[in-house]
Amino acid sequence: MSRLGIIDTHAHLDDNRFDSDRADVMARLANDMEAVITQGTTYESSVASVKTAEQYDFVYAAVGWHPEDLAGIKDESYIAGLEQLAREHAKVVAIGEIGLDYYWKENEPKEVQLLRLKQQCDLAYQLDLPVVIHNREAHGDCLNFFQNEVPKELKVVFHCYSGSLEMAKELWKRGYYLGFGGTSTYKNNKKVREVLAACPEELFVLETDCPYLAPEPFRGRRNDPSLTEYVGKNAALVRGTSFEHIAEQTTKNARTLFNKMFRA
Ligand SMILES: [Zn+2]
Repeated sequence: MSRLGIIDTHAHLDDNRFDSDRADVMARLANDMEAVITQGTTYESSVASVKTAEQYDFVYAAVGWHPEDLAGIKDESYIAGLEQLAREHAKVVAIGEIGLDYYWKENEPKEVQLLRLKQQCDLAYQLDLPVVIHNREAHGDCLNFFQNEVPKELKVVFHCYSGSLEMAKELWKRGYYLGFGGTSTYKNNKKVREVLAACPEELFVLETDCPYLAPEPFRGRRNDPSLTEYVGKNAALVRGTSFEHIAEQTTKNARTLFNKMFRA
């Protein structure tokens, strides 16, 4: 077993903030982590995720187009590009990071975001892969979409969950997972901790979203997957249990959700 015995289900290892010392970081993580799932945000970044997964045993990849990057899609063949990556590479375990982002005004219009989300969810369903969902300031549309536009068997994780407890309850009813990261450790973020405290044991996973959103006491610094430890320690505190229990449970959950990790 790895030193920490945990899985970071959401990282961006291709980010240029790792360019200067990526080899050192990866060597350290190989010892620390059970697994890291690195996300795609464009085709290029999805290819980079796949390459990293092929280079390092403990790394798995998600491929997808992030809602902030949809303007980069040139034509409808983009979906075939993702499909090929997912079919040809055994370590692609999810379609992500995809979703809705209504925060940035320069993002594509809502209709385009919803269409791209639908197409990528359909692909995931066809390939029997889970989807990794980014939802920023789009709670209503996001919930409505998942309640009405996808097969109920689609496996879903809402990464870096930021919605209400009421919305979380609707997601749990559907068997969806929630990802908790650095934001669940921030002092002013009582709402997320309320959801974390109430989350069914079998439906939550840990993540960093590195290099962004470093957990306390590292807030503001570059985040990396080993800091999942601090997210896990905070979760143990919030849920009144031990770090070891959180590590064991969330690792089991991540392996159930991203079950292609077994198939790889
Ligand atoms: Zn992300």
